[in-house]
Amino acid sequence: MAGPEFNAGESELLSRYFTNLDRPVFALRNLPEVVKGALFSRYSRTEKSLRRVLLDEFINEPDSGFDRLAGAPPVDDDMVAVRRAEEFYERVLVGYGDDSVAELAGAHVAVEQTSTLAAKALEDSRIGISPLEKSTRYVRFDRPGLDGRYLYHRGPELAHPDYERAADALFDAYSSLVEPATLAIRERFPQEDGETDRAWKSATRAKALDMLRGLLPAGTLTNLGLFGNGRAFEYLITKMAAHELPECRRLAADLHRELSLVIPAFVRRALDEKYGTPAAERLAQIRDRVKKQTISPLAGEHGGGGARPSVHLVEYDVDAERKVVAAALFPYSDRPLEELTGDPAAVLEAILGDRANRRQRAPRALEHAQYEFEIVANFAAYRDLHRHRMLTQDRQLLGTALGYDSPPGLAELGMEARFATAVEAAAGVHRRLESDTGSAVAQYIVPLAFHVRWYFRANLREIYHLCELRTTPQGHPDYRWVAQEMFRRVAEVHPRLARYARFVDLGPGDELERRKSERRIDEKLSALDRPVR
Ligand SMILES: Cc1cc2nc3c(=O)[nH]c(=O)nc-3n(C[C@H](O)[C@H](O)[C@H](O)COP(=O)(O)OP(=O)(O)OC[C@H]3O[C@@H](n4cnc5c(N)ncnc54)[C@H](O)[C@@H]3O)c2cc1C
Repeated sequence: MAGPEFNAGESELLSRYFTNLDRPVFALRNLPEVVKGALFSRYSRTEKSLRRVLLDEFINEPDSGFDRLAGAPPVDDDMVAVRRAEEFYERVLVGYGDDSVAELAGAHVAVEQTSTLAAKALEDSRIGISPLEKSTRYVRFDRPGLDGRYLYHRGPELAHPDYERAADALFDAYSSLVEPATLAIRERFPQEDGETDRAWKSATRAKALDMLRGLLPAGTLTNLGLFGNGRAFEYLITKMAAHELPECRRLAADLHRELSLVIPAFVRRALDEKYGTPAAERLAQIRDRVKKQTISPLAGEHGGGGARPSVHLVEYDVDAERKVVAAALFPYSDRPLEELTGDPAAVLEAILGDRANRRQRAPRALEHAQYEFEIVANFAAYRDLHRHRMLTQDRQLLGTALGYDSPPGLAELGMEARFATAVEAAAGVHRRLESDTGSAVAQYIVPLAFHVRWYFRANLREIYHLCELRTTPQGHPDYRWVAQEMFRRVAEVHPRLARYARFVDLGPGDELERRKSERRIDEKLSALDRPVR
């Protein structure tokens, strides 16, 4: 039996900064904004809990500067101040506030030990919430939790005789391949002259983890931080309360409890009897009603053939170029939009011709061109691309009927058989779970290598952003391919509109994707006079 995560001294130190020390969902308090941001950014690179990071890397690390930033206790504890402010907020909200007042205060909340499926549900918010999650590229997932067990979701809804055995088998396969794959990659990509040990080891480890992540089931536990405003959190809690997964419904209650300690006035309606609960019930009822209208229920239908990864441009506007040109001219004219015409080549050159790097954004006029894509790709790629928010998107349930991807790099190392055996065994258990627990709960056992179908409806401005960002040579090959295909489809139908997205990289990518990025990190560390070993 595992002991508590912190000893008495540590607990005393930490209790000032978190709304609790023994639950996986907690809010941050009494910390400067910059420290909260820095803490959340560590989620991406560490297996540790946030509270452990604060202790090890900030409080007990003299060089961190934490003492200067947060050491001296302020007169009031945040939570005391919150209680005092309550009456004030009430007056403002009830007196003169419309709903948008709740966007003017925010909170940092951590959600740890949550499944990848639930993390996706939390990250589905597009406006008002910024998430940061543990990376499958930089963090290994084979180390057990405090209870000595592999890190995947367990719950009463998954009390099925096959579930834990199948999830353990996937983690066993992942664990048994991490070291051999890393060693084989290091042999294939030896350390180069001038490359530090740190950079080489990080780049080669990242490549191994990139190849193996497809073995992780969707129930794999992750950690994430959410920074958001009150209004967005209120809606998120209501949506989570309506979710078909019991884990998400429990998270709704956890989030509500913790946020009520730091921004109570703004999340009060989230689960109340007048607004929140009826809104959640309505969302659940809509789901049930629409499910009944669906022609082909998923459960039990496997087809067996699978579906190759694909990016299909379902719809686009043939008149897009004229609309973009008119929108570009509009602010400088006194004519109605529909009367505005110009020379497309000259106008596009004027608004886009001088872009020097991908951070120089395409202007708003490009939002007048809309594209709808239907995509089939592995769930790991979906998981990454899902994080783009300036678009309309939705996915189908994760299952095994559409087949899976075996990373080509793994075949070159002669390790694909172990990979295939593990994911195919999980697919067999998934089919049993589908009929015994239902399709939604059965998703937990599906490895991230399996394909899922989703749609993106995006405007050209977001396509520029997404495709330029996601095709950089150091990106994961799975999402790089999707972004390249999206761009190719747009360029086929609108070559002139697409040609200014010149930072889209349609090349093959780097063989050792992280090598150049790690070298750049070394340069930054050297500039900061920090060791680069
Ligand atoms: C190489 C790489 C590694 C990554 N590693 C991790 C990781 O380890 N962990 C992790 O959690 N995520 C990771 N991500 C995901 C990343 O944090 C973003 O969530 C994702 O790339 C979406 O990008 P975006 O916010 O620029 O785009 P979009 O959401 O598509 O937004 C488009 C643009 O709108 C603006 N915008 C959108 N929302 C806001 C907002 N709330 N505030 C201000 N401006 C906004 C920004 O200018 C943004 O660029 C990684 C991404 C890449 C490319």
